[in-house]
Amino acid sequence: MGNDFITFLLVVIFILSLGWIIFLKNRKNKIAQAFLFFSITMAIWVFSNYMEDAVSIGYMKNFLLRMDFVSAAFMSFSFLLFSYNFSKDFFKFKIKIYGIVFLVLTLIFVAQIFFGKLVISGTELFSGVINPIYGPIYYFYIAFNLLNIFLGLLLLVVKYKKESRDTRHQTLFIFIGFFLMIVTVFITNVLLPNFIETQSDFLFISRLGIYSGLILAGFMSYSVAKTSFLNMKVISAQLFSVAMVLVFFLQLFSLQTKSDLFFKVVFLFIVIYFSKMIVSSVKSEVQRKEELQLMSDKLAQANDQLRKLDNAKSEFISIASHQLRTPLTAIKGFISLMLEGSYGKMAPEQVDVLNKVYSSNERLVNLVEDLLNISRIESGRMEFQFDKWQIENICQEVIDTFVLKAKEHKLYLEYKKPNQPLPELIIDGVKVREVISNLVDNAIKYTLEGKGGVTLKVEQRGESIRVTVSDTGIGIPESELPYLFAKFSRGKDTSRLNTGGTGLGLYVGKTMIENNGGKIWAESDGQGLGSRFIIELPIVKHKEEAEERLQKFINKI
Ligand code: ADP
Repeated sequence: MGNDFITFLLVVIFILSLGWIIFLKNRKNKIAQAFLFFSITMAIWVFSNYMEDAVSIGYMKNFLLRMDFVSAAFMSFSFLLFSYNFSKDFFKFKIKIYGIVFLVLTLIFVAQIFFGKLVISGTELFSGVINPIYGPIYYFYIAFNLLNIFLGLLLLVVKYKKESRDTRHQTLFIFIGFFLMIVTVFITNVLLPNFIETQSDFLFISRLGIYSGLILAGFMSYSVAKTSFLNMKVISAQLFSVAMVLVFFLQLFSLQTKSDLFFKVVFLFIVIYFSKMIVSSVKSEVQRKEELQLMSDKLAQANDQLRKLDNAKSEFISIASHQLRTPLTAIKGFISLMLEGSYGKMAPEQVDVLNKVYSSNERLVNLVEDLLNISRIESGRMEFQFDKWQIENICQEVIDTFVLKAKEHKLYLEYKKPNQPLPELIIDGVKVREVISNLVDNAIKYTLEGKGGVTLKVEQRGESIRVTVSDTGIGIPESELPYLFAKFSRGKDTSRLNTGGTGLGLYVGKTMIENNGGKIWAESDGQGLGSRFIIELPIVKHKEEAEERLQKFINKI
């Protein structure tokens, strides 16, 4: 068997495989059905074109020539059908009637080609090559075919113009396939024949023109696969396997010795085995990928849902806290007035109880303030006011506030500041003070009564200022250190010492310090060995710099 024949068989089977593989993957899809129809007609067309010259029996030649004409008619019709199905989502009108008209016309031509003399009135032979003698409506037949193709392309143009950018390339691919086919046909059937002398070369070249249908079929199959979300990897692996098996199978028919044949058969089986393996491994890989994709889509959805819930929660917290704050302020005011004696003198027991009410109320006020801060952070509404501040003064104010509390807990409260004044900082001093206050408050809370105390230290370290709050308290186990600054994070053993804690203070503090361009972290040598909370703030000379940095930070969230 000659290479010529092998090429021919390969082309025909390849065209059929394209249509078949895609059809098998989604049988119900109209586009895939139309494409299968198109690929069958094209395969028959290539087949009859080759065979009409290859066979030598007269009436066979005659029949195959007519089949060549018939399949060409069906091919142009099926191209139109394909284009219609491929683009029908993009226009409103139905073209069923037109479809029927075209089909009827095609059938009339087919009947004429096979049984009449109007399209082909006879045939003539030139050294083995059969040629038709044109009948009176031959040019109508050609025009009809061209009309089908023209209308098919027109529909694709309409689709291309209307569709979105993301899917356009699928249509474009068909045009490219079409264009490449025309160019190939032009080269092989118009240009090259001028330079060819022998009949066999001529035949070979003109066949190449026929095979170029494969280019169009290939590009079309890619578009169909893409529109129906098929995976090109699997299809390519399958096509590749078909081609490999076919090449090795056809090798069996070439002239050879017996031992040659034996090796070729063995080889064929090996190729079949490996082809199957390749296809199934590609399939499973693709399947795994698709499953992963599905899972990540689901996760994304769930995440979205969670975010919505989180927003709703923040909104709720914000509204609830605002509503709580006003009555709490009123309560605080009235208790203060009562304690000052504005409503008459009270017995010492009453004062005692009222003091307890006052401090409980104070805890509630702090909690509501923390919740409000959280909702401000999460909705991006926390505002910062950058100004020049002297950090030693801020720390002094904090110390002054907590002197009494430390005394009540029988703890020392030491303030270590440098002898030289520190450079001014451009920060939101109110917020930084709030954070340092919270750290000192925690240090007192988490240190057992009478067991040591708290030290607040301020110093300059290179280009930044460092504030350290250290205590001799219960310490923090290493396993808890990484989670300390997370929302609602509370140490395991801490509720004994501080029942009213929420685990919000450090989270709010971290956000505030980071918005000031600084860093905050905790260190501890372990349980019972005290803790150190460290804030580092950069020395910034210009207000714009601080604001710019804040903006950068906000953008990053
Ligand atoms: P709260 O104090 O309301 O629980 P915070 O966010 O201020 O919330 O603190 C979170 C957790 O960090 C505390 O529950 C505690 O376990 C731990 N913690 C904070 N400061 C100290 C400290 N100085 N010593 C030991 N543990 C601390």
